[in-house]
Amino acid sequence: MTTGVDQSKAWFERAKAVVPGGVNSPVRAFNSVGGTPRFMVRGEGPYLWDADDNRYVDLVSSWGPMILGHAHPAVVSAVREAAVNGLSFGTPTLGEVELAEEIIGRVEPVEQVRLVNSGTEATMSAIRLARGFTGRAKIIKFAGCYHGHVDALLAEAGSGVATLGLPTSPGVTGAQAADTIVLPYNDLDAVRKSFVDNPGSIAAIITEAAAGNMGAIAPADGFNAGLKELAHEHGALLIMDEVMTGFRVSKAGWFGLEGVAGDLYTFGKVMSGGLPAAAFGGRADVMAKLAPGGPVYQAGTLSGNPVAVAAGLATLRAADDAVYAALDANAKRLGDLFDRSLTEAGVKHSVQYAGNLVSVFFSDGPVTNYPGARASETWRYPAFFHALLDNGVYGPPSAYEAWFVNAAMGDAEFEIISSALRVAARAAAEAVQA
Ligand code: PLP
Repeated sequence: MTTGVDQSKAWFERAKAVVPGGVNSPVRAFNSVGGTPRFMVRGEGPYLWDADDNRYVDLVSSWGPMILGHAHPAVVSAVREAAVNGLSFGTPTLGEVELAEEIIGRVEPVEQVRLVNSGTEATMSAIRLARGFTGRAKIIKFAGCYHGHVDALLAEAGSGVATLGLPTSPGVTGAQAADTIVLPYNDLDAVRKSFVDNPGSIAAIITEAAAGNMGAIAPADGFNAGLKELAHEHGALLIMDEVMTGFRVSKAGWFGLEGVAGDLYTFGKVMSGGLPAAAFGGRADVMAKLAPGGPVYQAGTLSGNPVAVAAGLATLRAADDAVYAALDANAKRLGDLFDRSLTEAGVKHSVQYAGNLVSVFFSDGPVTNYPGARASETWRYPAFFHALLDNGVYGPPSAYEAWFVNAAMGDAEFEIISSALRVAARAAAEAVQA
C-alpha cells in the first residue's frame, strides 16, 4: 500500500503556479482519472519511487522507451561516458553514424535515417518530405492514431487528445488541417474511396504500424498491406509511424512481426534510451530529397546529441533476443492477469495486444477502431487505475493508452500486480457511471 502523497500534492500545487496544469505533457496531470499526479524521484529496474517514497511497479515505462527497465547499468554507464566527453558539439559525431547503422541493420526497408529530438519532429519531417517528394499536399491519417502534436495531425488524434476528448486543437488553423483527411482505422474501403475522391493530390498515408494510442489495436489482417498497395497504386507514400512499436514489439519493430514495408518510417522512444532522440528514415531515393543533398529543409541544433545517441545505442545493443522474449512473456502474463481478475469480478472486458503492447477495454468484445474505444465503459477506468496505484502499481492515467511492460519485471513484480489487480477489478466492478 502507498502511504500518503503529501509531497506529490505539495509539488503539484507548486508546479501549477509555474507550469500550465502543473505538467509538461497533458496526460501526466491525471485529468481523466482524478487525484494527485505522482512526482517521481527515482527509477530502478521495474520500479519507480515517488517524492513520498512510495514504490510502484511501473507499467508505463516512460510511455515506451524503458524496455530494459529503469537506470539499466549499461545505459547509465554509456551516458556517463558520453557526458564526460562533452554534451553537444553541433558537428557530426561518431555515435550518430553508429545509431543510424543500428537502426538500418534492424529495419530492412530503412536505407537512410535522419536523427531528430522527438517523435513529433520525426512525423512532422516525414510528412514534409513526403509532400516535397510527391509534390502533393494531402495526407491521410486514421482517427484515434496519434503522431505527436504536429498541427496537421491533431485531428481526431489518440493519446492525450483522446483522453481530453478534443476533436482537434484551437491554434490549428483551417489551412493547416485542410490537407488532412481523417479516415476510420482498419477500413480499407474508406482509403480506396479517398484516393478516388482526391485524384493526384494525396502525398502520403501515415499510420501507426499498430495502433497504440487509442489503446492497443492491432491492424486487421491485410490492412497495412492494403495501405501499401493503395498508396503505391495512386503514387503516394506509406509512412509507418513506429515511434511506439519500433524496437519494442520486436528487434525490427512492427515491421519485424508483419513484414509490410513502408516507404518512410518514424521512430522514437526505445531508440532514445529515455533521452530526447527520435528519427525518421526510409527509402534512399526519398531521403535524398532532404537538405543538404536535396531541397526539402529539415534541421536541428541538438539533433544527434551525443549523450542521447549513447543512451539509444546502449539500449538497442542490450536489447537482444532474450529481452524481446521477456517483453513478450511479460505482456502475456499481464494480459492474463487482467483477464483473470476482471472475469472473477464479473466485469466485461477485452484484453488486447499489438505485439507486446497490452490494453484492457471495458467492452463486450474486441475493439478495432476509435469509435469502439470511445464506446467502451471508460468510466470504470478511474476506479481501476486508482486501486492499482494505491496498491503499488503505476498504470497509464488514461483509458486510451497502452500498457508498457519492461524486461526487468519478474515473479516478485507480478505478485504485486496480481494482488493489486484483485482489488482494482473489484473497484472497476463497483464503479458507477457519472
Ligand atoms: N507517434 C506515435 C505513434 C506516438 O506514440 C508518439 C508519442 O506517444 C509520437 C508519435 C510523438 O512522439 P513524441 O511524444 O516524442 O513527440
